Amino acid sequence: MTTIISREIQLVSRPNGLPTAANFSLIENELEPLTDGQVLVRNLYMSVDPYMRGRMNETKSYVPPFQLGKTMEGSAVGEVIESRAEGFKSGDIVTSTLGWREYFITEPQAVHVVNREIQPLSVYLGTLGPTGLTAWVGLNLVDVHAGDVIFISGAAGAVGNVAGQLAKLRGCEVIGSAGSAEKIEFLQASGFDRVFNYKDAPVLEQLNRAAPDGIDVYFDNVGGETLEAALSVLRVHGRIVACGGISGYNAEQPAPGPSNLFNITTKRLTMKGLIVSDSLHLLGDFEREVGGYFQSGKLKNQETVVTGIDRAVEAFLGLFDGKNIGKMVVKLDGTVDD
Ligand code: NDP
Repeated sequence: MTTIISREIQLVSRPNGLPTAANFSLIENELEPLTDGQVLVRNLYMSVDPYMRGRMNETKSYVPPFQLGKTMEGSAVGEVIESRAEGFKSGDIVTSTLGWREYFITEPQAVHVVNREIQPLSVYLGTLGPTGLTAWVGLNLVDVHAGDVIFISGAAGAVGNVAGQLAKLRGCEVIGSAGSAEKIEFLQASGFDRVFNYKDAPVLEQLNRAAPDGIDVYFDNVGGETLEAALSVLRVHGRIVACGGISGYNAEQPAPGPSNLFNITTKRLTMKGLIVSDSLHLLGDFEREVGGYFQSGKLKNQETVVTGIDRAVEAFLGLFDGKNIGKMVVKLDGTVDD
């Protein structure tokens, strides 16, 4: 095997507030030679995700913090280019969580073979990957069913857009919010019933207009003012999926919670938190249902692709600036699968 140099992105300092490029470093890592029982993988696509911001803090939450001076972990799709492991061959397409790097050598347990016929392969990071799984698990968590009026924030993003499409397939009335005119047009084209730009006017005012008779379910991706508005507009026995709170991820001081939490008591609301990694045992069911919708064309995959490992940080920061429609993915130079 010739020497392989992998370019990788490391976290080198912990951000205060919004991260900057100075918190990261692009390094070159010379790989050790491949040994028996190992595979060499070249990444094709890497995922950048909002949850990574939480892991940049020193404090442990549900996952340990990223370590300084180590390559960023995260989901990726790659191709086996050499194998000395039984059951793996060159050309196999695999997913991993080894993160922001061009190449890696690993034992087979750290990778999962996927069907290379499904295109684009980046769909394994979005609609058929962790964010699609999050959307599906979130809907199941509060039993979203036909007739529900559901409001989804962050609706043009990776989780929100799949949640909206799946809710439509279940026979729901779907309301979505997002942060630009272009995203509003995209949501209309995706089949959302009513949509609004949360930057245009107070969320409560716009949500009341979109749902004059209230909502049954709120799928929360952003927290803050939007959660407060949803608490006011939810009907008695309404349900909330507490999936994310991106409006607060870069806050230097935690913002006070919603002023109207007492709605949970008066309306007998249910609010359930979700961490997608708790549901990996449901992957088979997810792949059957959501994979089936995708392959039959009932579910559309939407993504924003940034090319080059040297642009991974820019892609990540773009999440906090609303730069993505659908899943934000980084395509590595030289990828020719699509
Ligand atoms: P998205 O694809 O939705 O990307 C982030 C989007 O958030 C941006 O495009 C932007 O869209 C929006 N945004 C950024 N800042 C703000 C803000 N201050 N207020 C409102 N919206 C904002 O990301 P994902 O789909 O991957 O994730 C969505 C949410 O789900 C996140 O909170 C994430 O942490 C959470 N999540 C939770 C998981 C779990 O297991 N609980 C797993 C995966 C994701 P816009 O232009 O509309 O503002």
